[in-house]
Amino acid sequence: MVDLKSQYLKIQSEINQSFQEVLASCQFIKGPKVLSFEQNLAAYLRVHEVISCANGTDALQLAMMALDLQPGDEVIVPAFTYVATAEVIALLKLKPVMVDVDMDDFNTTADYISNAITNKTKAIVPVHLFGQSAAMEPILSLAKEHGLFVIEDNAQAIGADYTLDNGQQQKVGTLGDIGCTSFFPSKNLGCYGDGGALFTNNKKLAAKIRSIANHGQSKKYHHQYIGVNSRLDALQAAVLDIKLKYLDQYNTARQDVAKRYDEAFRDISQLKTPFRSTHSTHIFHQYTLQAIDFDRNDLIHFLQEKGIPAMIYYPIPLYQQVAFAPYSSKKFSLPNTEKLCQSVFSLPIHTEMDAETLTYIIEGVWSYFK
Ligand SMILES: *Cc1c(COP(=O)(O)O)cnc(C)c1O
Repeated sequence: MVDLKSQYLKIQSEINQSFQEVLASCQFIKGPKVLSFEQNLAAYLRVHEVISCANGTDALQLAMMALDLQPGDEVIVPAFTYVATAEVIALLKLKPVMVDVDMDDFNTTADYISNAITNKTKAIVPVHLFGQSAAMEPILSLAKEHGLFVIEDNAQAIGADYTLDNGQQQKVGTLGDIGCTSFFPSKNLGCYGDGGALFTNNKKLAAKIRSIANHGQSKKYHHQYIGVNSRLDALQAAVLDIKLKYLDQYNTARQDVAKRYDEAFRDISQLKTPFRSTHSTHIFHQYTLQAIDFDRNDLIHFLQEKGIPAMIYYPIPLYQQVAFAPYSSKKFSLPNTEKLCQSVFSLPIHTEMDAETLTYIIEGVWSYFK
């Protein structure tokens, strides 16, 4: 699905040199590399503060801890997402309230959220799935109207641009109170291990997040909050600082692959190609198709025989997961989420796709429909 090796080989000398610097300095936790990366990412995102942490799941957890959400508070989250988004809500003894998503962009909407708001609702977590932003302005005004926090799960859309109704552009993930992201190796901006970050324009909130991520420490051995240990290490920051320079180029490479797929599959009536919204660019963390009226597993097996991987993100609605049974009744059902869980599949997409491989994948898909 991804080709991290070829990507590494292209930046090998830069990476190796930066690693040597970290090794020579023996500053493995925090230190100048981490600071430099946080500042460079903040500048790239045009946001006041970036706080790095150990992974994307921790970023979501830290956001909820910093906003002082209390046990029993309800947090609205799409049911069609990676488990991490809802997991941290439950972990903090908050209540995940799952809502449906749009059939075109796979993201939740202000309408679905609005129907789920109660007097216990405290926060909304829109997920910008597969590389494209949810329609944020209606969600932000809904949040404002009801006094709710907005935490954006931006693990899949870092670098995408959002165009506001007034024509101004902002980076996806910087519109809500806090944006969270993951630097898992296969993400659009990935390191060589685990990593994550939060971004916010609220300086006070940023200071609190920074403290909570470091044992709630205000200064050494003074602890103001019950915190956690969630830090980015210097070797990961070294990788990320280098890869950040190439992020736009990487995202463009993914968009080029997506364009080729779009053109190739346009005339296959049984495939629905990815929708492009007007408010957001799409940076194709995944290239996800919908199978119309046929069994996608049949196609996936057919492709597998040809050595072409295809994956299903995500096969099961969160509310049908055993772990989430306490948060919904057996009868609970969200029609779009269920349809998507049964019809989506994703093809390989990454920054190093060569023309030959791309043609091979396209011809493989075509031959199934002949
Ligand atoms: C990857 C991902 C996460 C979690 O990130 P980790 O770094 O793996 O903890 C959370 N939400 C979404 C939507 C993701 O894709």
